Amino acid sequence: MARGSSNGTGNTSCAGAGAAAISAAKPAKSQQTPRQALAVAWTVPAGLSLVAMTSPRALVLAALLVGAAPTFAAPQTPLPRPGGDLVTLYKDLHSHPELAFQETRSAAILAAEARAAGFTVTEGVGGTGVVAVMVNGPGPVLLIRADMDGLPVKEATGLPYASTALGHYKDGADQPVMHACGHDIHMSVWTGVARAMAASRDQWSGTLVMIGQPAEEGLGGARAMLDDGLLTRFPKPDFALALHDSSSIPAGTVSVPPTRALSISSSMDMTVKGIGGHGAYPASTKDPVALAARIVTGIQTLISRENDPFKPAVITVGSIHGGTRYNIIPDEVALQLTIRSYDAAQQQRLLDGIARVAKGEAMAAGIPEALAPVIRTTPIGQPTLNDPAFAARVQSILESKFGKARVIDLDPSMASEDFQYFGLEAGAPSVIFWLGGVPQAQWDAAQKGGPAIPSLHNSGWAPDPGPTIATGVEAMAAAAKMVLAKP
Ligand SMILES: [Zn+2]
Ligand SMILES: [Zn+2]
Repeated sequence: MARGSSNGTGNTSCAGAGAAAISAAKPAKSQQTPRQALAVAWTVPAGLSLVAMTSPRALVLAALLVGAAPTFAAPQTPLPRPGGDLVTLYKDLHSHPELAFQETRSAAILAAEARAAGFTVTEGVGGTGVVAVMVNGPGPVLLIRADMDGLPVKEATGLPYASTALGHYKDGADQPVMHACGHDIHMSVWTGVARAMAASRDQWSGTLVMIGQPAEEGLGGARAMLDDGLLTRFPKPDFALALHDSSSIPAGTVSVPPTRALSISSSMDMTVKGIGGHGAYPASTKDPVALAARIVTGIQTLISRENDPFKPAVITVGSIHGGTRYNIIPDEVALQLTIRSYDAAQQQRLLDGIARVAKGEAMAAGIPEALAPVIRTTPIGQPTLNDPAFAARVQSILESKFGKARVIDLDPSMASEDFQYFGLEAGAPSVIFWLGGVPQAQWDAAQKGGPAIPSLHNSGWAPDPGPTIATGVEAMAAAAKMVLAKP
């Protein structure tokens, strides 16, 4: 199973490339991968989809389903004192990661820091979300987001501050938890930006709404905060900003996507059915393992033969499980897929294509119509698109701050986010930019053919906190002061 690499992502996860989890035997509940545990939680109420979970009442249900169980992150550890060194804060956050909708300790730290800096703070927005508001004269309202959740990944960095925390989703087994996506970097930068903006109130005018968002990794934390009145209970943003750490550029650098930042992501569960029997007598069965194998390879022609090569798309089968023993042909095989693109119509074509190929392969295998593959897919969301004019302004301010060499161009990412929903619902231009995190020595070695750099969601991802956080604070504060410039 792919434990410890890239699993645990869902519909809107920020980085979703995953090592395939292939097993000959369907795991018992206690052996389930994190993603499977999540899928179990999703499927408990029959027919309840992510769409159905977007109302506040449904979110309470969702929280009960997946978020009620605490993360066992040494709760006796005292919270860091507000106002301390940011790298020390980062190491504390890194040692105490919490799963989606369980970020109580992280939220308490952000709330205390923002209060100490002079913000008016509301906690418990959309579950564990934090909203810190500073009204500082006339001018626009700027939202700045940090996400707070960790991932069910067993850390393998070997760092002295590596996480040993455990957590679990409701009804799931205990899992090691790690900040493998760098949301601890985001919270540290957020804290530094709150302090920097509070300390320079004479240099800007307007309203700052800084939010700590729960559950970015696939569980709809942005949606939860919006459904809990983020845009009505607090000043409605005219602009929105966020950053995400990156394993594609070194610490001390940034990258501003001009428009396309992160893709649409759909999660799909597929049950390939057959007729089980003795492994010695295949003629008396309809083998779903052989059929699933054909579907797995067949759907890749949707990318290579049917998709416009100028429109990027990815289909990944991240999990496939069927059967129990050498000599038993099972009745079914369960697959989990992620499907990504930048266009809703293209995304629908891919989803329809997968259903068509699966059905066609089943027919070709002689599977009766009543046993056709069953598919369940999350609703098609939105890509994360930066507002071009706003992105150009952010690019320009960062180039003037850091010099062009430290503002690097990157291709759009096929990872996914839910940050865009704040801007979309508020009608506010939004920009998310990448914050380089790779230690310079590691970066230099990799350029010379040395060891590959661990990607986000990898158990070895270890950004260099000093220059990464310092650059993040400087970049975000500069962009914020640009938006909130005095007339
Ligand atoms: Zn992530
Ligand atoms: Zn992330």
